[in-house]
Amino acid sequence: MIATQEFEKVLQIKLCRYPEFIPAATVSSYLVDGLLIDSGPAHTAEELAEFLRDRKVKTVVNTHFHEDHVAANRFLQDRYGVEIFASALAVAKISKPAVLYPYQEEVWGYPIPSQVQPLGKVIRTENFTFEVIPTPGHDRDHVCLFESNQRWLFSGDLYIGKRPVVCRPLDDQWQILEDLKTVRELKPRVLFPAPGNVLFDPGETLDKVIAHLKSLGRQIEELHNTGLTIEAIRQKVFGEENPSAPRTQNQFSSEKMVKSFLRWKVET
Ligand SMILES: [Zn+2]
Repeated sequence: MIATQEFEKVLQIKLCRYPEFIPAATVSSYLVDGLLIDSGPAHTAEELAEFLRDRKVKTVVNTHFHEDHVAANRFLQDRYGVEIFASALAVAKISKPAVLYPYQEEVWGYPIPSQVQPLGKVIRTENFTFEVIPTPGHDRDHVCLFESNQRWLFSGDLYIGKRPVVCRPLDDQWQILEDLKTVRELKPRVLFPAPGNVLFDPGETLDKVIAHLKSLGRQIEELHNTGLTIEAIRQKVFGEENPSAPRTQNQFSSEKMVKSFLRWKVET
């Protein structure tokens, strides 16, 4: 399923296999001036390729290698000959996608491998220049794109919401905090996240997430220093485990948030 909305010169393309656009199963690609940022999951890949038939896409950038951001690459390459870029760390992972968990197969589907080129420092379209901002907290290969004249920030999976309570095993929350500070300093005017809604003047929201994560991290470290177990810390900070944990074979959980904040102290 596809739902679109225009924001200035940017088209948000919401992609979801379910007609009700369940938020946790929906991801957005963005189309601006012939550049497609992220190509979405496998289950919507053909539909997206068809939707883009007359929309003159020249270039695709994948913000990172995750299966919900890269899966229409091959369709767009084969049909329209687009050039596709991702960070150098993502290139091999996109050409040989990893085995997925059952929930990933169900919600997003398995991406067909595609060949992508390593990103440089900028991506230029006819009218805009997008700076590549490495933001390695969500995954080591993750980048954001920033257009400094328009002050548009395309944040991939860096910003997932105002008060995150779950994360994936490889999320590095302290690095995510640094990444959020990095993009905050750019003073974006419009934030285009992959998981959620477009935000205008996102400065205050970013400040709140930064403050929230910082205090969460400190609280978790302090509890760890008192000798509490991971489970006891999770219970104290978040209460019962989040319902997304059993639905995602424990890949998205509050326990992972605790472990992520204790990255130097415990095995994750
Ligand atoms: Zn991701």
